[in-house]
Amino acid sequence: MQFLRKLVQCWTNTISEIKKPVVVMAHYHIGQIVQLKKPHPCGSDRWQIIRVGMDFRIKCMNCGRSVLIPRTRFERRVKQIIAGEV
Ligand SMILES: [Zn+2]
Repeated sequence: MQFLRKLVQCWTNTISEIKKPVVVMAHYHIGQIVQLKKPHPCGSDRWQIIRVGMDFRIKCMNCGRSVLIPRTRFERRVKQIIAGEV
C-alpha cells in the first residue's frame, strides 16, 4: 500500500512537472525593429528597441517618440521581429 501511494505521489509530481509553463526567453537586442500588436496613436506599429532590461525602451519608427514599457508587457505585445539579429 505504501508502495502504491509512493507510486501515485511520483506520478502526480511528474504530471505537475509537465503542466509547468515553458518559459521561452526570446532574445531582444538594442537596435531591433519589432512589430507590436497594438499600434502607436500615430498609426505606426513598428518600434525600435533602444534599451533592454527589466523595462524596455522602445522608439516609434514613425514619429520618433519613445516609450518605457515593462518587459513582460512588451513580450506579450510583440507580433514579430522585423529586423535585427535574433
Ligand atoms: Zn508614433
